[in-house]
Amino acid sequence: MMKNLILVGPPGAGKGTLAERLIDEKGFMHISTGQILREALANKTQIGLEAKAYMDKGELVPDEVVTGIVMEKLSEDEVRTKGFMLDGFPRTLNQAELLDEGLKKYGIEIEVVIYLEADQDTIIKRLSGRRACRECGRNFNIYTMKPQKEGVCDHCHGELFQRDDDKEETVRNRLKVYSDSTAPLVDFYKEKGSLKTFNGNNDLNVIYSEIKNVL
Ligand code: ADP
Ligand code: ZN
Repeated sequence: MMKNLILVGPPGAGKGTLAERLIDEKGFMHISTGQILREALANKTQIGLEAKAYMDKGELVPDEVVTGIVMEKLSEDEVRTKGFMLDGFPRTLNQAELLDEGLKKYGIEIEVVIYLEADQDTIIKRLSGRRACRECGRNFNIYTMKPQKEGVCDHCHGELFQRDDDKEETVRNRLKVYSDSTAPLVDFYKEKGSLKTFNGNNDLNVIYSEIKNVL
């Protein structure tokens, strides 16, 4: 089985939701920089406070900050033994190169890069309907993945809320940042031969089973 994966794709393509499912089933360690940053923010740590201004605007948090977070995770034995799924990282070519250096240090490699393509309409719908759990961070969608009880997390009964950066204005900026800074990663990993492309406009159940076949 494939061990170390990257999920790349525009915001709203379904990365977070797919990662949650694959992790439940496969026992990978999930490394979501967005989620780690949101937790840091909620706990008012130094990193969280530093990241806030960028996140509120839909801008990227500086490369050194997010790369530091990921390297700390990779330093954990459990993460390297079980294998990991990077979700939302790398997001720039510089981050991808820093990641390569870090992986070399441990003698490990990324085996597959899962690229979720999605068009603008899908993205807007997924993001405007997205609700996240305040307690466990899981994602729901008021259009496509309703919780059993409105406003309440199925898993831990935490409160569901709309992220500040899912408001329309910020979403538009995140899409621009994606096409300027992150989209070039697709070619970078294509050249390395590790890229597998999936149609993120499909139903998430369909994408999920396609991805499982590849793993
Ligand atoms: P999504 O994939 O839905 O856009 P994330 O939860 O991955 O959202 O990220 C939310 C925010 O956290 C981003 O808009 C950005 O400000 C910050 N962030 C997360 N990961 C990175 C990263 N690898 N590099 C820079 N900023 C990041
Ligand atoms: Zn929850």
